[in-house]
Amino acid sequence: IESRLPQVGTTIFTVMSALAQQHGAVNLGQGFPDFDCDPALVDAVAAAMREGHNQYPPMAGVPVLREAVADKIERLYGHRYDPGTEITITAGATQAILTTILALVHPGDEVIVLDPCYDSYEPNIVLAGARAVHVPLTARTFRPDFDAIRAAIGPRTRALLVNTPHNPSASVWTAGDMQQLAELLRGTDILVIADEVYEHMVFDGGQHESVSRHPALAERSVVVSSFGKTFHVTGWKVGYVAAPAALTAEFRKVHQFNVFTVNTPVQYGLARYLANPAPYLDLPAFYQRKRDLFRDGLARTRLTLLPSQGTYFQVVDYSAVSDQSEEAFCRRLTTEVGVAAIPLSAFYADGRDQRLARFCFAKRDETLASALERLARL
Ligand code: PMP
Ligand code: GLN
Repeated sequence: IESRLPQVGTTIFTVMSALAQQHGAVNLGQGFPDFDCDPALVDAVAAAMREGHNQYPPMAGVPVLREAVADKIERLYGHRYDPGTEITITAGATQAILTTILALVHPGDEVIVLDPCYDSYEPNIVLAGARAVHVPLTARTFRPDFDAIRAAIGPRTRALLVNTPHNPSASVWTAGDMQQLAELLRGTDILVIADEVYEHMVFDGGQHESVSRHPALAERSVVVSSFGKTFHVTGWKVGYVAAPAALTAEFRKVHQFNVFTVNTPVQYGLARYLANPAPYLDLPAFYQRKRDLFRDGLARTRLTLLPSQGTYFQVVDYSAVSDQSEEAFCRRLTTEVGVAAIPLSAFYADGRDQRLARFCFAKRDETLASALERLARL
């Protein structure tokens, strides 16, 4: 069979989770919480099931959830999306990004991605018959390099993928970055696909710069988010896309024949749960405490910490401990030290090796303590 994705194997997240399980390692590799969600959220979904919300919902998502999402975005970022024509509920961010790309990117187009980047972007672009143009973020600080982005723009550039807060580096774009981006794209018809799945995890009093805060960007952007990250339910696979009506109309044409609709009772449960903003407003403090606990422990190891401004990830430089490649080091860390991590090279098209590894700290305090105890032996 001639493969549509000849370069693609099993994702590094699956590989490292399997290795962690096989060796009884503490799994700080794949990004997911090892604690449960708020029981009130489970109750809200169960109630929706009991109330008979168990058949197909409307194609774009149940109106009460689209309304709740529009309210949340307006409250936080000051931009009102029309729930009828500008918000669509998706089966997580992964489907949202693929559907966006299939709907808006044409064969022969180019899409700029900023490396390191999430591993689904490039295969999605390839499936659309387009080409990913990789522009690296700045070394170690993981900031956008606008001169390099400008240099990568050409006549075939259709879209630019932006991810803030950023997986895997835990860096966060500033308002100045967004202004520079708006300036750079002015006068072009380049779209922005904004992967904002970690929007509610920004630390140290910083604010999330959604593209929807910036009118010149909002009008050319598809914003993607995921309830899995925000409410500790990565296995539910529900997210949303917010985009101007003309873009949403194209998105829905593909969505309709991709998943058609998304799990009904979960949508009703989320709508009810979103009425109270506390769970997502409290999230930065919740994760900042875990970040600080983890960083305090790591500071007592021979690993060097890079900043973690947002997300639930922490990148470390292990060059004081080993000169192995990132992949070899992460495998050894999992099998011999008993802590799984993800090599940063997995997020780079050129696979560059910088002696960096990513840990996920969305874990119970006991899990973090147990990982730290093992890492102290390095
Ligand atoms: N984008 C980024 C940057 C992510 O980290 C993830 C989750 N790993 C996703 C998209 C996918 O989110 P979901 O689980 O909602 O599909
Ligand atoms: N987004 C998660 C991460 O970066 C993993 C999701 C997945 O396994 N595809 O770790």
